Amino acid sequence: MSRFFSRNFAALTPYTPGEQPQDKQYIKLNTNESPFPPSPRAQAMATKAAAHLELYPDPTCRALRERLGALHGLTADEVIVTNGSDEVLSFAFMAYGDNGVMFPDITYGFYRVFAQLYRLPYTEVPLKEDFTIAIEDYKGRQETVFIANPNAPTGKALSRAEIRQVLENNRDNVVVVDEAYVDFGAESAVPLVKEYDNLLVVQTFSKSRSMAGARLGYAFGNAAIIADLETIKYSTNPYNVNRLTLLLGEATVEAEDYYQSKCAAIRATRNWTAKALESLGFEVLPSDANFLFARSPQVSGETMYTALKKKGILVRHFTNPKISDFNRITIGTPEQMEVFITKVKEVLYENL
Ligand code: PMP
Repeated sequence: MSRFFSRNFAALTPYTPGEQPQDKQYIKLNTNESPFPPSPRAQAMATKAAAHLELYPDPTCRALRERLGALHGLTADEVIVTNGSDEVLSFAFMAYGDNGVMFPDITYGFYRVFAQLYRLPYTEVPLKEDFTIAIEDYKGRQETVFIANPNAPTGKALSRAEIRQVLENNRDNVVVVDEAYVDFGAESAVPLVKEYDNLLVVQTFSKSRSMAGARLGYAFGNAAIIADLETIKYSTNPYNVNRLTLLLGEATVEAEDYYQSKCAAIRATRNWTAKALESLGFEVLPSDANFLFARSPQVSGETMYTALKKKGILVRHFTNPKISDFNRITIGTPEQMEVFITKVKEVLYENL
């Protein structure tokens, strides 16, 4: 830290992204990316878009907002487009933090970082024993609620009816539902946007849309909520989404069948992998996401993570003692998951 760094940030523990190693080729099952490339249509668009990089992008992102809205019967005014969904989450913490924020104790680690960055009082609400969110804990509170649905890293989801209950019990605070993984099996809260003026639903192109590298996120909400977030966007980074990414995003929205089929493939591989892990004695949480959260009664989470890494497979390990026995395993292709299971067997055998 330099001697010039603001006192406001000196104590901040920043978010630690999952490893993105450049040293060698791993089977990368650690940051919930898609194992499939973007649609051919999106790839073709990249060359076209590159020819106009001398120009700024459209700061309103109008064409993409219209297309995303049209998917759900919403207007462009009910959609914001951002540099990854991390950015719209950041905007929401800035916009709605005055009365504090609350989120589960085991969830996406960035929520705590945003709360600290913006110096918001925050409450981390313990999950139930079985790692589900106790919705009764989100009633009669003042804070803005952040819920990842499905939750990460557990993979467990609330139903739309449960999200509705959280909304009903927070009519005077904003409820942010982070649906980064919704396309892999959970019920989306987007149909509730027309009913609740306190709802913001955040989604991303990073997972089911195979575009983690393009950095494209978005959110749906009542037009007044979206206008708040636009105020923050135009006060921080008006050209937040670059020209290439905008055009790739538009092409991606038009290739719905391609992505649906990839999501179905990931679900099938997830079920195969869960069974294979269970047959090796693992406890595997039921998952509605593109990852599994699993622990072996025989080998600690850290030992498994380290041994797999040596064998060329990256999974995600968390040091929080509540979940340190587990690893989060992104679902790759069937071939990748077969190699993964073979290597897990080797680790178990080596640790008998
Ligand atoms: N929400 C959750 C729950 C996530 O796991 C992630 C990915 N790390 C994000 C949001 C952010 O994803 P992105 O910025 O790539 O859209």
